[in-house]
Amino acid sequence: MKLNSRESIQDFDLPPEDRDLVEGVIAGGRRVLAKAITLIESSRGDHQERAAAVLDVLLPHTGRAMRIGLTGVPGAGKSTFIEAFGLHLLDQGLKVAVLAVDPSSSRSGGSILGDKTRMERLCQQEAAYIRPSPSAGTLGGVAEKTREAMLVCEAAGFDVVIIETVGVGQSETVVAGMTDIFVLLQLPNAGDDLQAIKKGIMELADVVVYNKADLDTMAAERAAMQMRAALSLLRSASEHWKPPVLLASALHGQGIDKVWQALLQYREAMTANGALQEKRQRQALDWMWQLIDNGLRHRFREHPAVKAALPATAETVANGTTTPTLAAHKLLNLMNRYF
Ligand code: GDP
Repeated sequence: MKLNSRESIQDFDLPPEDRDLVEGVIAGGRRVLAKAITLIESSRGDHQERAAAVLDVLLPHTGRAMRIGLTGVPGAGKSTFIEAFGLHLLDQGLKVAVLAVDPSSSRSGGSILGDKTRMERLCQQEAAYIRPSPSAGTLGGVAEKTREAMLVCEAAGFDVVIIETVGVGQSETVVAGMTDIFVLLQLPNAGDDLQAIKKGIMELADVVVYNKADLDTMAAERAAMQMRAALSLLRSASEHWKPPVLLASALHGQGIDKVWQALLQYREAMTANGALQEKRQRQALDWMWQLIDNGLRHRFREHPAVKAALPATAETVANGTTTPTLAAHKLLNLMNRYF
C-alpha cells in the first residue's frame, strides 16, 4: 500500500520538513530522493537522528526492487555494462538506480561513480538515478549508507537497484551481503584468470559475465568454459541455483538481454521456494549484528577508563609481561565502570 496523502503520514512524529521529504521520496521525485540520501550520508548527529526517523517511515515502502550487486576489476567494463544494461531495462519501462560502494573513495576523495563522463547517457534519463559512493568513512560506514540509500531508492519506486563495487579487497563481500544477486564481470583475456581471481569472489557470484567478448570471441568462450568447470567444483551460494557463465559486449550492447534473463530466472528460482525471502532476512539480521559489533567497538574505544588504560596495557602485551587474554579481559571489564 502506498502513502499518497499528507494525512496518511501525519501519525508519524516527523517535523514538517522531513514529512515533505518522505512524501517527495514516495512520489518518486529524483531531487527529493537525492536530498534524502544526502541526509542519510551526513555524519552530523542531528542529521543521523532525522535520517533514522525518515527511514523508519519509509521502511514499509521498501523491499520491492531487485537488488543487484556488480563487481569487476577496474577496466572490466562495469560502467559501460551498467549503462547498456540500465538503458535496456529502461526500454522495458523499468526504473533503475545505481549506487556504489567504493573502498578507494575514502582515501583518494575520488569515486568510481564521481566521474561525470561515466554512464553519461543513463544519467540523462528521467527513470534512472545514479549516485556516487559516499566519500567519507570506513568500508563498513560507506556500506551502511549505501544500504540505506538502496532502501530509499526502493521507496521511491525504483524496480532495480544496482550496487557497483570495484573487485578489490573486502567490498564484494559487503555488497553481496546487501543484494539479492551478485554479478561478477570478467575480462576474457587477462592471462590465466582463473588463477588470478580469488576463490572467495567466485563463491559469491550468482552470475558470471565475460565482457568484451567482441575483442576475441574464442578467448572469451575458452575462459567461460574454464570458469564453468571451476564453478562446478565449488559449492554454490544457494542449493537452488547454479551460476551461469555468459558472454557479453557492453560496448556493442550484445548479450545484455541474456544477462537480464538470467537474473529473472534467478529471481524466479529463488522466490518460488522462499529462498530469496530467507536470504533477505538473514542479510537484515547480519546487518543488525554488524551494527551492534561496530557500536560496541566504538563505545569500547571511546570509554574514558579504557582510553586511559589502553596504551599502558597494550605496552605490557607487546613486551610480553601480560598475556593478550588477561589484557583483553581487564580492558573489557573497564567498560562496566561509569567513569
Ligand atoms: P570499469 O573501470 O570497470 O568501469 O570499466 P569501463 O566501463 O570504464 O571500461 C573500460 C574500457 O573498456 C573503456 O574504454 C570501455 O569503452 C571499454 N569497454 C567496456 N566494455 C567493452 C566491451 O564490451 N568491448 C570492448 N571492446 N571494450 C569495452
